Amino acid sequence: MKNPTFSIIAPIFNEFENIPELYPRVMEVMEQTGEPWELILVDDGSTDGSTDGIRELAESDERVRPVIFARNFGHQIAVTAGIDYSRGDAVVIIDADLQDPPEVILDLIAKWREGYEVVYAVREERAGESWFKKTTASLFYRFIYRITDVDIPLDTGDFRLMDKKVVAVMKQMREKHRFLRGMSAWVGYKQIGVNYRRKPRFAGETKYPLKKMIKLALNAVTSFSYFPLQLATFIGFIAAGLSVIAIPVVAILRLTTGTALLGQATTIIIVLFLGGVQLISLGIIGEYIGRIYDEAKGRPLYIVAESPQDPENAG
Ligand code: UDP
Ligand code: MG
Repeated sequence: MKNPTFSIIAPIFNEFENIPELYPRVMEVMEQTGEPWELILVDDGSTDGSTDGIRELAESDERVRPVIFARNFGHQIAVTAGIDYSRGDAVVIIDADLQDPPEVILDLIAKWREGYEVVYAVREERAGESWFKKTTASLFYRFIYRITDVDIPLDTGDFRLMDKKVVAVMKQMREKHRFLRGMSAWVGYKQIGVNYRRKPRFAGETKYPLKKMIKLALNAVTSFSYFPLQLATFIGFIAAGLSVIAIPVVAILRLTTGTALLGQATTIIIVLFLGGVQLISLGIIGEYIGRIYDEAKGRPLYIVAESPQDPENAG
């Protein structure tokens, strides 16, 4: 088969009920482009029968290409595998739960045809998500924007289109702890946002519990910023500065009054406070060291159990 113009990538982790809806919706939209396309469904270790659903689709339509993982590797890794297997001139990442309406793909493609290499979809509204998720997500995007050197667009998830030039660079970025939206911003080229309304899930529950959200946030911060490491230095300077002021003050007070600052309470508080700051700093350094360790091991990013074709550059 000739290489398609468009590759649509959908990561799937227990989305059994969504697959039969996703496929026709994507098909309907992609047929309107009049160009050949492929739908890469990456099964991220589903246990609910999604895997069979994907296999059946792939048998009935050769444009559907399954990549089935040996276990759950996480959303960002699943999308990465999709990128590795993609062959299109433009690659679109979309959630399988239909929160990102496939119809928006046409808007992304229109911008690509105007010459933009990365077209990201900006959530101007998020329907059907909890107050907690919306608030934490909003704070998170703003925090990341402030502390990183790369301009990662606000309120933007992984729903985006990337030209094959960008995809070629992404295929070379083999870091283990991945924050794809940051990585695609880092690549550069001409980038632009397109607004859309994020819908509620078509079926099922979120596969991003708080634990996974925190993990993603930590990856985002550590992959694109030294800010936490610098924070330790900053607090260190403040503590040292305070002690330089405190030493003569204490000496003078003790000499002049004789009774000031007796007792252990102040000492205990300060020891605990500084001990806490030091342990937190160690923990921050540990986060970075753990990531260096993961890179040093050089393990493959994912293990594919089943797929019809080999990617150019997988693992
Ligand atoms: N997903 C995945 N692996 C995971 C968690 C999620 O492939 O470990 C997929 C999931 O099936 C969906 C997409 O990633 O297609 C986004 O997940 P979800 O909708 O649960 O996240 P939310 O929209 O709630 O942030
Ligand atoms: Mg979702």
